Amino acid sequence: MIISTKKGTPQAEIDRIIDNFERQGLSVTLIRGTDYNVFGLVGDTTRIAEKDVLANPWVENVTRVSAPYKRANRLFHPEDTVVNAGGVPIGAGAPVAVMAGPCSVEGEAHMCQMARLVKQGGATLLRGGAYKPRTSPYSFQGLGTEGILALVKAREETGLPIVSELMDEAHIEEFERYVDLVQIGARNMQNFQLLKAVGKMTKPVLLKRGLANTVEEWIMSAEYIMAGGNENVILCERGIRTFETATRNTLDLSAVPVVKEKTHLPVVVDPSHATGDYKYVESMAIAAVAAGADGLEIEVHNDPQCAWSDGAQCLKPDRFAETIRKCRLVAAAIGRTM
Ligand code: PEP
Ligand code: MN
Repeated sequence: MIISTKKGTPQAEIDRIIDNFERQGLSVTLIRGTDYNVFGLVGDTTRIAEKDVLANPWVENVTRVSAPYKRANRLFHPEDTVVNAGGVPIGAGAPVAVMAGPCSVEGEAHMCQMARLVKQGGATLLRGGAYKPRTSPYSFQGLGTEGILALVKAREETGLPIVSELMDEAHIEEFERYVDLVQIGARNMQNFQLLKAVGKMTKPVLLKRGLANTVEEWIMSAEYIMAGGNENVILCERGIRTFETATRNTLDLSAVPVVKEKTHLPVVVDPSHATGDYKYVESMAIAAVAAGADGLEIEVHNDPQCAWSDGAQCLKPDRFAETIRKCRLVAAAIGRTM
């Protein structure tokens, strides 16, 4: 971190600044100029917020040289991380993972039918929400425990590991027991209390990007989970809010190479929530694989018009299978298996 102070900063203030950072375990190098003084801070500056440094009225400018995250940072962990999700490896070098299933779990028989269909179409994990973060309190809120048990049954029948969203710390034990990959939804990406609790779990986590969050904020949320001791985090780009209304969200595909450069974590893309429209899911899935995504999360329903949530963005099983077939061609073209 590099800090510069204003012209005329008294010596006592300069000494105080140096002393303050040295007491925090940092080594401080002072470069004296005729008008300005520049401080170079070396050491772990992750605890220091630029805004706090700027609270000192003598400070003119603060520049962070290194990223504020450590555990997720590729700098300290150059190799790609491969996360094991219920026996399926997800990450660079592993086959591109395919998480598919309905938005909401709609009962045991339906879940088992969907599991068979998505498996036939190429899914390697089964998704389904049992606790749903709905914009309206009057919309279907999910089947809860009954939904989790329906997913367990579908896993027994197909062997597909299950992915489901955790919304509340109160359900951690249930998820620890039954779910293979714990999804933290976009709306909870900055629920720091929940992130800390998930950091204590033994199950891997699929951390979706918040609706209006920067890449750095998203990585800081991964850092929360990792700082708690759970290093098995997969990031999921699912579109962000922009001025554009033609699609539900705007898929930020460039986040894939950006996040891969900054972190060693696997990155998955969800073209369903990103576009909100089944017509665009296939092209964005193909594009995500081309961009280097380590996996896809796609909503699939046998009868989208009657789906209990997100029907408009669900692919029918045939279209899903066709989408995965095309994605495999792209994966092969860039030297990946799928
Ligand atoms: C979901 O996967 O069903 C979901 C609600 O996604 P997101 O949190 O990305 O909106
Ligand atoms: Mn959904």
